[in-house]
Amino acid sequence: MGGLHHGHGQLIKTAQSAGLNDQAVVIVSIFINPLQFGPKEDFENYPRDLENDIEIASKFGASAIWIPSQSQVFPGGPDSSFTIQVPPGLKSKLCGSIRKGHFDGVATVIIHLLRRVQPHILVLGEKDWQQFVILRELIEVLGLPVKVRGVATVRDIDGLAHSSRNQYLNEADRAKALALPKEITKAAQDAKKGKIVDLHQIRTSLENKGLEVEYVEIVDPEKLQSTKSQQHFSLLAAAVRCGTTRLIDHTFLMSRNPIVAIDGPAGAGKSTVTRAFAKKMGLLYLDTGAMYRAVTWLIQKNKISPKDQVAIGELVKKLKLEIKSFGNNQQIIVNGNDVTNAIRSPIVTSLVSEVAAQSLVRKALTEQQKAMGNSGGLVAEGRDIGTAVFPNAELKIFLTASTAERARRRSIDLKEKGYTFPTLNELESQIKERDKMDSTRSISPLVKAQDANELITDGMSVEKVIESIEELFRMRIPEEVWPTPLH
Ligand code: C5P
Repeated sequence: MGGLHHGHGQLIKTAQSAGLNDQAVVIVSIFINPLQFGPKEDFENYPRDLENDIEIASKFGASAIWIPSQSQVFPGGPDSSFTIQVPPGLKSKLCGSIRKGHFDGVATVIIHLLRRVQPHILVLGEKDWQQFVILRELIEVLGLPVKVRGVATVRDIDGLAHSSRNQYLNEADRAKALALPKEITKAAQDAKKGKIVDLHQIRTSLENKGLEVEYVEIVDPEKLQSTKSQQHFSLLAAAVRCGTTRLIDHTFLMSRNPIVAIDGPAGAGKSTVTRAFAKKMGLLYLDTGAMYRAVTWLIQKNKISPKDQVAIGELVKKLKLEIKSFGNNQQIIVNGNDVTNAIRSPIVTSLVSEVAAQSLVRKALTEQQKAMGNSGGLVAEGRDIGTAVFPNAELKIFLTASTAERARRRSIDLKEKGYTFPTLNELESQIKERDKMDSTRSISPLVKAQDANELITDGMSVEKVIESIEELFRMRIPEEVWPTPLH
């Protein structure tokens, strides 16, 4: 809508780096959309400074600025153009509850702009989170061939989120306005410490600083509806009036960093994609299968039968299992022995499912895994991550493929590691046997968590699978919560 500032600059920069190749064409559209202003709102006074807009857009690297007229966007006038009605569920809270018709106006104009520009990627700021969620959902349901990328809210050094409307603030107002980012930042810090955020207290603090509060609400970040209590991952959003200027801001309340759970049967390619995805996103990588394999190695070394519960119980009591991460690789040390390679042997593979079905083994390893995930920021792969280890993971993936495809992959893997490998038919029946044992055991069997996204990877390249997981991750986790690392 014009009134460009550094926040818009960041959108332009992101659009450049998100391009499909080096020659990304970045188009900045500037259109002050009458449909999204209410009758008493600031349409007439909205910042219009084309010279400044052009300067900022070119400084940050826009290829072109498109400033359509009303008749270009709505050739027959707004009254004869199709309009979009945002579902009530997405606009009944936050700004939607106050600015009636606002999001219908935003959605309508964005569809008209997209139709004309036909971009590959649409870059939007997370600052207007409700708008971001509504547009992402709209594009998804209409099946438009455009990817939506979010950009974290850009703030001034004093903490105030950049906004075109900040121009309206005089010095005294601006000093008052800082209470908004301060209060929400404090709430986010409290939530990290496990404290319940008190909305009434936030409202009172804002009012005491001279701000008029329109709303302070906690909602589900995707559904944009109130949550029963402060759920594990929620959105705290507020709108205030500072003098005559309306300001909005938000934060995400989380008690820890995000967790991604990747489960699935043997040979689905979990390790390869999980490791690469973790590296790409700067998350810790946890291969829980390696932990069950390490215990199996120990049982086998001590010549204990995988059925001998008493002996296994004793062994688990003294177990010291260390997982050291070196970049993309993990070193597994069990009771002082480096078993990183040994646990991949066919003999360990043939025994591991029986060992993994033992309750004492599962209890010890699940506890250790939960402790490792205490502060989050990790992606764990296994069989029961989304169901038993991290049931409140922000993203759950169930990665699978046909048994024939999994046998093919396993044979390549064994060949690469220098092991003799059986025929594909034999591998296929071994895999089926392991699937059966893993999915029929009484404790934490391999099942798809009810809220997991299933990815069937037959015919998909490793890169494609990683890309799909990254897309799903971004659907759940805002840049503001876990920024995509620069590579
Ligand atoms: O993934 P990987 O093939 O290394 O796993 C080895 C075995 O460890 C699985 O077949 C399963 O029996 C067990 N496992 C488990 N729960 C996990 C991870 C692995 O039972 N979370």
